[in-house]
Amino acid sequence: MIKINIQRDEIIIKTEKLTKIYGSYCAVNNMELIVTRGAIHAFIGPNGAGKSTTIKMLAGAIRPTKGSACIGGKQAGSIAAGKLIGYAPENPRFNKGVTAYRYLIYMSMLCGEGYCNAKRKAAEMLDFFGLTRYAPWDAFKFSAGMRKKLSIAQALIHSPEVLLLDEPTANLDPDSRIELFGYLRDYAGKKGKTILISSHVLAELEHIADHMSIINKGELLLQGEINEIRGYMSKKIYSEEIPLTSKSITEISLEDIYSTAMNEEKL
Ligand code: ADP
Repeated sequence: MIKINIQRDEIIIKTEKLTKIYGSYCAVNNMELIVTRGAIHAFIGPNGAGKSTTIKMLAGAIRPTKGSACIGGKQAGSIAAGKLIGYAPENPRFNKGVTAYRYLIYMSMLCGEGYCNAKRKAAEMLDFFGLTRYAPWDAFKFSAGMRKKLSIAQALIHSPEVLLLDEPTANLDPDSRIELFGYLRDYAGKKGKTILISSHVLAELEHIADHMSIINKGELLLQGEINEIRGYMSKKIYSEEIPLTSKSITEISLEDIYSTAMNEEKL
């Protein structure tokens, strides 16, 4: 596994030999993931690579079979770690009989807000995600895209230090994607929060992520700061016939890095 520039900045997520075994199948294998504070960290890999399983372990939604995961020095799954994170799963589901507005108020109060503040925050989130007119709807009846938005809204409602987003743009319309990415960029850039985000749309991540990890078959292939990975990868991507300039390094896309890493693994 290639690690680039990961010790320079403060570490906020750290896993050690993190492993999840389902029956006889190892979904995540001895993962040593490091995410630095303030990063927008793209978590990339093919279907079935183990991204959701890793994110679920970080969120405390499932327990590791072996190894450990820490968020801000607190063990993932503990109450202390739970206060630091917001988690939007890949396929959010909501119980019958709870309106979107009530759900967000409840989630905000669970995070310690008083009723008045919780109502204000719920309204703000519904407004940002364009869900205000659906506030009285039973969230169980929401479309996939609306469920996604509501799930991201609940993840953000207490302004967590660490946001864990599993395929957040799946099912979102193009305008919502652009708005969400604008929001996330400010969330990390201006507020100094950390975002771990998985997506299959690498071109999308290209515009917001500054760090990345590539995972395949439950194992990390590469992790680090994207510009430094570009420098490292340029030696592999460009042949000797093509002169290497700083322009050509910045032109290396996440797609280039991804396919190079995946091809190397096959060798
Ligand atoms: P990704 O998010 O990268 O697509 P997942 O983490 O969802 O991958 O899944 C990794 C592997 O673990 C897949 O092969 C999947 O079938 C398997 N897996 C995930 N959840 C379970 C489960 N609850 N029981 C059995 N196998 C599972």
